[in-house]
Amino acid sequence: MEKPVADIAILNAGQLLTMKPIKNEEEEEDNPLGIIEDGAVAIKDGKIIAVGKTNDVIKQIEFGRNTIQIDANKKVVMPGFVDPHTHIIFKGTREREFVLRHQGVPYMKILKEENAGIISTVRWTRKATFDELLEITRTRISEMVDWGTTTLEIKSGYGLNLEEEIKILKIAKYFKDYSPLNIKSTLLAAHIIPPEYHMRDEKYVELVVNDIIPIIAENKLADFNDVWCEKGAFTREQSRKILKAGLKYGLIPKIHADEMSDAGGAKIAAEVKAISADHLVYASEEGLTKMKEANVTAVLLPITTFSLGKEKFADGKKMVEMGLTVALGTDYNPGTAMCPSMPLVISFAVVRLKMDVVSALYGATLNAAKAIGLDSEVGSLEVGKRANVNVLNIRNYEEIPYRIAENYVEKVISNGEILK
Ligand SMILES: [Zn+2]
Repeated sequence: MEKPVADIAILNAGQLLTMKPIKNEEEEEDNPLGIIEDGAVAIKDGKIIAVGKTNDVIKQIEFGRNTIQIDANKKVVMPGFVDPHTHIIFKGTREREFVLRHQGVPYMKILKEENAGIISTVRWTRKATFDELLEITRTRISEMVDWGTTTLEIKSGYGLNLEEEIKILKIAKYFKDYSPLNIKSTLLAAHIIPPEYHMRDEKYVELVVNDIIPIIAENKLADFNDVWCEKGAFTREQSRKILKAGLKYGLIPKIHADEMSDAGGAKIAAEVKAISADHLVYASEEGLTKMKEANVTAVLLPITTFSLGKEKFADGKKMVEMGLTVALGTDYNPGTAMCPSMPLVISFAVVRLKMDVVSALYGATLNAAKAIGLDSEVGSLEVGKRANVNVLNIRNYEEIPYRIAENYVEKVISNGEILK
């Protein structure tokens, strides 16, 4: 049989983290990250065509005139990071709010500032043109790529009316269609009640259910439908109604659940069979058990908790012990997480969520892919999957959480394209 000519061959990795567990019965030692020492990956047409020891991979492929050889020189090579929860399409920043919050100024007083609160972001984002927002988003995505993210989810939620939510989701679609990254998009019309519906929240829920959801679904502008279930945002009943309305039109439910209080979000996630429930800082044991039974992925966002200066983080360790699929994300947003870095999220997962490094690494790759329905395509290094690969300038995977906020991401390949 003729051997395929590789487009790219990454050779001599010190530790190649395949994220496909290897059981070695003779040594009786499990290898949960599927680490191959002196490993290699070969890529053709944007897909992985061989994974294994460097010597074995070399035997399986042909080197053509145009084959790019990358010598990983004993470094760590792993799948591209997957960020399953971002709000990156917005205009304006809110640094004043951040600074005042940590100086102890009461939130009601902070909201009197010009650039404070979600509503100020909504105001700025509505005023921005499509092209302007597109360029802002392009910059943010390139920052994320610089930190090794090759797959991401993008939410709307700063438009809060039909026209503006369409504008935002069309930008997400642009990057879905034209960037080399793998992107899923989420309608978050139910982020908060927009100011023009103040004291008339049921009217806004009707608009979301009867107009926004059907039109977004019909135009295939989103994969998922999300709601912020919390006091001051949407009630349990409203959340359930909005998520069920999305399901009717083929939009898979997601939910911002139990971030500030046990608002019952985890239980709703289980009830509507959401693909993920996100935040879960205050989720009850009962809610988490129901999530596990309904196969809902838990997405934890520790940077948000840190940025708010809170002491109580989600109990990642317990969720892992309960057998839940636990994923990690940045929650990149202007209010509580101006953070493009999944490596930093992994540091927080280990330090504050008390997760073991293996779980944290799955959380940032394969489990995050599961949270957005892409686990059959990305999140591990396996033949047939998309060629999303990072070369890290470290020798041992335990350095990933240890080197805090150091950008050791040296090379980033997404769908066979070298981006860094
Ligand atoms: Zn969020």
